[in-house]
Amino acid sequence: MHRLAEFLLDPSAGPEDFARFPLPDTYRAITVHRAEAGIFAGIPSRERDPSLSLHLDQVPVPEVGPGEALVAVMASSVNYNTVWSALFEPQPTFRFLQEYARRRPEGRRHDLPYHVLGSDLAGIVLRTGPGVTRWRPGDSVVGHCLVTELDHPDGHGDPLLDPEARIWGYETNFGGLADLALVKSGQLLPKPAHLTWEEAAVSGLVNSTAYRQLVSANGARMKQGDTVLIWGAAGGLGSYATQYVLAGGGFPVCVVSSPARARLCRAMGAAHVIDREAEGFRFWTDDATPDPREWRRFARRVRELTGGEEPDIVFEHPGRDTFGASVYTVRKGGAVATCASITGAQHLYDNRYLWTRLVRIVGTHFAHHREAWEANRLIAKGRIHPTLSALYPLQETAEAVRAVRDGLRPGKAGVLCLAPSAGLGVTDQELRIRHLPAINRFRT
Ligand code: NDP
Repeated sequence: MHRLAEFLLDPSAGPEDFARFPLPDTYRAITVHRAEAGIFAGIPSRERDPSLSLHLDQVPVPEVGPGEALVAVMASSVNYNTVWSALFEPQPTFRFLQEYARRRPEGRRHDLPYHVLGSDLAGIVLRTGPGVTRWRPGDSVVGHCLVTELDHPDGHGDPLLDPEARIWGYETNFGGLADLALVKSGQLLPKPAHLTWEEAAVSGLVNSTAYRQLVSANGARMKQGDTVLIWGAAGGLGSYATQYVLAGGGFPVCVVSSPARARLCRAMGAAHVIDREAEGFRFWTDDATPDPREWRRFARRVRELTGGEEPDIVFEHPGRDTFGASVYTVRKGGAVATCASITGAQHLYDNRYLWTRLVRIVGTHFAHHREAWEANRLIAKGRIHPTLSALYPLQETAEAVRAVRDGLRPGKAGVLCLAPSAGLGVTDQELRIRHLPAINRFRT
């Protein structure tokens, strides 16, 4: 693997050299083990220690099948789905691998006693399987995490509706928190030339999700001038959502939980920021009882900031804690677009505010290849910027997972895999220099 890492940095290597370079038998990968899926039984999620479940293993290099590509991963990132996998919450991900194997012959390779995690990558294509024409060895790429088969009619309007749609590195094996990763070629996108490997690696999952959730015809269909309430506006998803609203001519109302995060939102260009901790919003009187007085106080605060306007769109993902307030606060005819329930999936809201005010709830999940392509294009053009805040070596992935689980850092946590150090991989210095302050905004 050391020889491969050195070879990847050789600027004179061409496609034939990459295709000829001998693959190692095994590679480093962050895994969970099927045999340990019960270790946290009876322990609340908050107290589960990811360093007990995550391993740095040497695992065999998988065979590259038709339509697939093997990528040398220079850098990756930690998303919340890796937190769920590491905590075996709400269920061990081995169930997904078994299901993949049961439903499809090519899925059988994925059903192993270990699961290589990770749903982001930036790296270099090493091998392509039969039928791959768009990419070749030596190409610098980033990956998005939607795996589709599209052999069922349902996926042909919106690929997310494919009954065989899966999230790579979560519902499939051979993910990106590793030195090598196996993807379908339809997951690959060109690496933005002005970014380092670690900057390029952090956006794929959250950027594409925020794009579909807010901008796409499959999401909230944001238009110029829209006011958008964004929960967790300095977090993984929210930091991209805030940029989309600003880039699309809208007005974000950013909700965060500290002065430092409020500063980040203002630095991105947001004029309206609510520090939910400083202002003491508590939407529940106890575990079972929402507090509509707090919904009203919150909605008033939003209107105070916007000069009386209510949000056209609410960008939802906290879930149980905030959903009632979101439905109450959105304007008549507006949309609450949701992709997650980080604080609990059983939502409670007052349906009278939904139907009498003709509010739409839009369920949305990741993005299809075209949406991911469009979102990546905006990064490549320097319109949307990565929000990398902290970088970990692969062997310290468990620390990164803990930091994400505990909300210890804003933006995104990056992970260095085969890249020997930070700062490598830039091929367009001119564009980089133009956007350097924005690229570094979240670095701490
Ligand atoms: P992060 O941890 O980076 O950000 C989540 C943010 O939510 C935090 O920064 C925090 O901001 C805010 N938050 C947490 N608890 C509360 C609360 N009680 N009330 C209000 N805000 C809260 O995670 P991500 O943004 O990466 O992911 C968020 C969720 O979205 C996860 O559950 C993830 O699994 C899901 N997700 C779903 C996707 C899909 O395709 N369906 C894709 C990507 C993510 P602050 O404390 O500053 O307010």
